Amino acid sequence: MKKIAQLVRAGAALTPYTCPVCGTVLVRLKTGELYCANCEKTVVLVKSEEEAQQALEVIQLREVRKIIFDKILQLGRELEKLTASEMVDHLRSMSLLLDIYERLSRIHTEVSKRQSTSS
Ligand SMILES: [Zn+2]
Repeated sequence: MKKIAQLVRAGAALTPYTCPVCGTVLVRLKTGELYCANCEKTVVLVKSEEEAQQALEVIQLREVRKIIFDKILQLGRELEKLTASEMVDHLRSMSLLLDIYERLSRIHTEVSKRQSTSS
């Protein structure tokens, strides 16, 4: 309960939904995700098998996105040590990764938007 209050103070909103695992009231984070403060997990409401599958895919994509983000940071840190000619390859990789990262972010935003309007 204390954690919920903290989240609400930080800008999260209370919802009429409860966690399917522990029954705690879920809050909607500023990112649009539903969150259980007790399980410390994001909860996804689904109405059909298809939606469940889609939600799972989004979660998996989010993991990929995180890996890509870490790689971008890693490449960014390495830039400092490189000569100008070595940098070209590096920057090309970074640009590619940023492209994928952006696309993954777009999928994520679209799905959260759909969730918050349909529920
Ligand atoms: Zn819970």
